[in-house]
Amino acid sequence: MSRKTLLSLLLLPLLAAAQTTEKVDLNVIHKIKIAELGEGGGFGGGGDGGRGGRGGSQAMNLMFQLSDHYGPRLTNSPQFRRAGDWAVGQLKEWGLSNVHLEKWPTAGGRGGPIPSWEMTGYSGAMVEPTYMPIIGYPQAWSGSTPGPITGEVIMAQVQAPDDLTKWHGKLKGKIVFTAPLQELPFPTTPLASRYTDEELRDMVPELLPTGGRGRGGRGGQPNPLANMTPEERQAFQDKLRAFFSDEGALMTVTASARGESGTVFASNGSPRTGDPTKNLPSIAITAENYNRIARLVEHNVPVKLAFDIKTSFDMSQTEAFNVVAEIPGATKPNELVMVGGHFDSWHMGTGATDNGVGSVEAMEVMRILKSLNLKMDRTVRMALWGGEEEGLLGSQAYVKEHFADPATMKTTAEHNGFAGYFNIDNGTGRIRGIYLQGNEMVRPIFEQWFAALKDLTPGVITIRNTGGTDHQSFDRVGLPGFQFIQDPMDYNTRTHHSNMDVYDRIQQADMEQMAIIEAAFVYNAATRPEKLPRKELPPPTPPQGGRGRGANQ
Ligand SMILES: [Zn+2]
Repeated sequence: MSRKTLLSLLLLPLLAAAQTTEKVDLNVIHKIKIAELGEGGGFGGGGDGGRGGRGGSQAMNLMFQLSDHYGPRLTNSPQFRRAGDWAVGQLKEWGLSNVHLEKWPTAGGRGGPIPSWEMTGYSGAMVEPTYMPIIGYPQAWSGSTPGPITGEVIMAQVQAPDDLTKWHGKLKGKIVFTAPLQELPFPTTPLASRYTDEELRDMVPELLPTGGRGRGGRGGQPNPLANMTPEERQAFQDKLRAFFSDEGALMTVTASARGESGTVFASNGSPRTGDPTKNLPSIAITAENYNRIARLVEHNVPVKLAFDIKTSFDMSQTEAFNVVAEIPGATKPNELVMVGGHFDSWHMGTGATDNGVGSVEAMEVMRILKSLNLKMDRTVRMALWGGEEEGLLGSQAYVKEHFADPATMKTTAEHNGFAGYFNIDNGTGRIRGIYLQGNEMVRPIFEQWFAALKDLTPGVITIRNTGGTDHQSFDRVGLPGFQFIQDPMDYNTRTHHSNMDVYDRIQQADMEQMAIIEAAFVYNAATRPEKLPRKELPPPTPPQGGRGRGANQ
């Protein structure tokens, strides 16, 4: 073997390693920590109770504004608009560039236009055989009662075309309970949890991406519409939409989709197609209230309920928005790193964990990076999406406008200059790692970025896909978009799409940890020599249909 060959053999591994070596600026990461935790501060508030003192986290202040003060933020509701105006003011106050509400139309979209809707009054009680207040919430886009009403209960599940015949002529003047008696197994597992080391380890060795939704998802009830063609199903659903009002029912009542102990999960709204202002009142109530009434009816004890439900619609306001703000890049201003999460929420709690968290973190990342006056090559752009809960509508509209229409896959110059997108939308739990979304090429990069943050997170990297939120809109047009792995906490058992999605469920130390890690990832992506590697461009896909309402994180 010649000396030259020997030398090149010795150098080969070094060269290979050099290709994947990330230059992580530990001094910048230290500065980011100080900007979030304050000088000498630890997690959870340091010296000033964490309510936003000198140099420290603003996360809980921002959370207060988005949840207690301006929440909930159902897309296009008056609260959503006021929260958007507040966010714009706050982002401008921090000196960010190009701060604006970027409008997109909801009219003509799947599911119908999203009206400006809000609930303005609710009272509900059982009045016979005895008095019991009912813990309940109007569903999104529910209509109003004509004033206080009283009516008898009838249990009538309508799930298949035969049921329409079965109940025809029997619902007039009735309050219709549309769900079966709810099974409430005794809870024996903790309400909230963090990932164990073992659970995190189990995510690593997977070789191929699996799972579209990660956690969550509804259990396996057989679908009575499974054997229908899409046209048959649509025809049935069109009939079903008007069935209860055509039959003269007073209103519909459903049980909380899951959960117990006074928590109401009910993300599914009333229909928005047709004329939603004519929607019957529809409410969701706690499983325990529902079951008591259902058992009385089953035992032929006459039950009367009284309701007064007030909601308001403004059908002229169907344009939604995303909140956008930037820090211009110093040397490659046309290249783009994005950070975000959805801004809209459901309307029963205040939208704290879903997704005040992702919105707060993205804002906090921008505040930190701006306040440190760091020189970043690429432009960093924040986007807080509207319409996520109605089917990722805001991020899809944005991606189509700026990067590529998935139906044609004709890409723009902005698509070419896109370096990466980071999303948070899994509740208040801290970051434990990241989903690669099937992009094996970013693994060695993220490994090194996490190595520089090992005091904050194990940095688990899994090839797994996670779905149900806005990074998918980027992934769908071949752009690298990522969602972090977060501790589950009580997201699926208590807060996600429930009346208990409130400020008090937010964990401050977790919020601060997430802000530091997300800021570091965004900084790294904005300063590394190359854009993040991409998967191959996907083929055009037909316009998306059939995402069930309420399927989103
Ligand atoms: Zn969400």
